[in-house]
Amino acid sequence: MAIREIEAPHSDAPCLAEEDRVERLNSHAIVVGSGVAGLSTALGLAAMGRRVLLVTKTALGGGSSQWAQGGIAAAMGPDDAPLLHARDTLAAGAGLCDPRVVDILTEEGPAAIRRLIQLGAGFDRDAEGALALGREAAHGRRRILHTRGDATGAEVVRALTAAVQAHPAITVLERTFAWDLLLADGRVTGLLALRTADGSSAGDGGGACWMQLQAPQVAIATGGCGQLFAFTTNPPEVTGDGIAMAARAGAVLADMEFVQFHPTALVTTEVEGDAPERMPLVTEALRGEGAVLIDETGRRFMTEVHELAELAPRDVVARGIWRCQTAGHRVFLDARAAIGDAFPARFPTVFAACQAAGIDPRRQPIPVSPAAHYFMGGIDVDAWGRSSLPGLWACGEAASSGAHGANRLASNSLLEALVFGARTAEDMAQAPVAEIPDDLLRPALPAPEPALAAAAELRRSVRRLMWDHAGLVRDAAGLRALLATAGSWESAAAALPPSRTAGELRNLVCLGQLVAACSLARRESRGAHYRADFPSTDPLQARRIRVRLERQDIVVEGDLDEVSLEAEEVLAAVERVAGPHWRPEGWWR
Ligand SMILES: Cc1cc2nc3c(=O)[nH]c(=O)nc-3n(C[C@H](O)[C@H](O)[C@H](O)COP(=O)(O)OP(=O)(O)OC[C@H]3O[C@@H](n4cnc5c(N)ncnc54)[C@H](O)[C@@H]3O)c2cc1C
Repeated sequence: MAIREIEAPHSDAPCLAEEDRVERLNSHAIVVGSGVAGLSTALGLAAMGRRVLLVTKTALGGGSSQWAQGGIAAAMGPDDAPLLHARDTLAAGAGLCDPRVVDILTEEGPAAIRRLIQLGAGFDRDAEGALALGREAAHGRRRILHTRGDATGAEVVRALTAAVQAHPAITVLERTFAWDLLLADGRVTGLLALRTADGSSAGDGGGACWMQLQAPQVAIATGGCGQLFAFTTNPPEVTGDGIAMAARAGAVLADMEFVQFHPTALVTTEVEGDAPERMPLVTEALRGEGAVLIDETGRRFMTEVHELAELAPRDVVARGIWRCQTAGHRVFLDARAAIGDAFPARFPTVFAACQAAGIDPRRQPIPVSPAAHYFMGGIDVDAWGRSSLPGLWACGEAASSGAHGANRLASNSLLEALVFGARTAEDMAQAPVAEIPDDLLRPALPAPEPALAAAAELRRSVRRLMWDHAGLVRDAAGLRALLATAGSWESAAAALPPSRTAGELRNLVCLGQLVAACSLARRESRGAHYRADFPSTDPLQARRIRVRLERQDIVVEGDLDEVSLEAEEVLAAVERVAGPHWRPEGWWR
């Protein structure tokens, strides 16, 4: 493996303590993130003869991928076809999918699954040995592949990780936090990363060093940003780092207002009232089997909300629960009558999570809450994963390709990570291997020190405010209040010494503002975005909102003429989408 490594403090880095090191690594391509998207991209690049540096802030395989339960959608059944899968995907996307991208997703899906099986991923099969295909809400056919019932993500990650570890052209840097992209003459030329001693947030002060990772091509596969919200099913490392990094480098982002909330995540007694790090999912299949939603008095409230009650669309159920909670109630999923003693055998993962929380779902109702689950927004990319910045690609949940529109169809995201991870690799491998000059690093940065308590406190307030004002039900007053507060977050986050904790916070603060600004800009309700002050869908707003940061201003792109310049003009540009008469103070700083 011909990777050059220089372990010497850079001469222009006076603030680095003597024992800190700046390492430089060169490669053909860098992939950031080791979920399904990052692993697929790295494998694709290596298969085409590229030397790859795979950078991940956790151990290999961290992120949401390993937690995916339901499965992977692909048109593989005898009664199914990519066209039918595309039709269901477009319907869920509520008018904002890119039909060309959806066609690619659904047509290339079956081949991506076959590649995965060749790599050794095992899927559940029927008695005849054929793939057992499940059916989920809003899918018109049985097309969900799964492993051991509800352990699909773990199996896919296992198979991909083994292949990555076995490939001699892939060098893996675990516990390495990508901090920012490096740019030269408007091109991405690598990234600055912080390598921590033990990879945990708590350990990010100890033994850390900066690394300059150079490559003419960088792929961001860092997942979504569920940790923006007080309640989320995403693990703690899903903090939108790659999206924020790309935004700071000037890349165009898209669909930032679209966050999917899952109706039922498990509320554990220890964390009730506070923000848990990650909430286990309580699968929709339980409601499909007849489990009902009740409040603490035993009242079944969804019958008053929608004619389909608990089987109403995901966002309707999530808002029904949210309204019940904001009226002061606690909400439970009652599976005692519908499933009862069969629970452990039929839903082993949920049963184990309940047990760990001290709940026996055979005898007790399960406390649940909606939780941020999937981010449809992200780095704006084309069908080959190309971003607006030369040298930068993105795939998986960090990217916004137009595959999901305003709402993701269940089980389409693992498929998207596989299909577009492979396409991203194919496109990157065709780009020329340019020489990167050696003198890019100017890390006038202080040595990392822990400022963990302050950062953790601020992270809690960001997540709480985002939940309250940019969560399931939004309105202009709340979003403006949020944006007005965000200025103080910025300065507090900027004052923290560099560490993984500080870096994640900085990224959450950046994305929080973008999500809030775009939510304010979309003056309608569509897909996963619900505005209490604009509850209807407006056909005139059936277009994607694209934004980018310029010197910390939010610039609206897309159908509008590109506007950058001063804050007043930026506000005016946002206003043209958001409508007139809003003036939050200081949010653009
Ligand atoms: C509980 C749960 C259940 C789900 N169930 C399903 C399902 O059944 N079907 C389905 O299709 N989808 C499901 N999803 C969604 C799906 O799992 C994700 O959309 C998908 O796995 C995203 O893959 P990814 O590779 O883009 O990101 P992730 O899997 O989130 O991986 C991101 C990677 O980036 C790394 N990273 C992040 N920031 C940095 C940084 N600064 N520096 C270095 N590395 C970084 C992380 O460590 C991680 O390795 C589920 C999600 C959750 C949370």
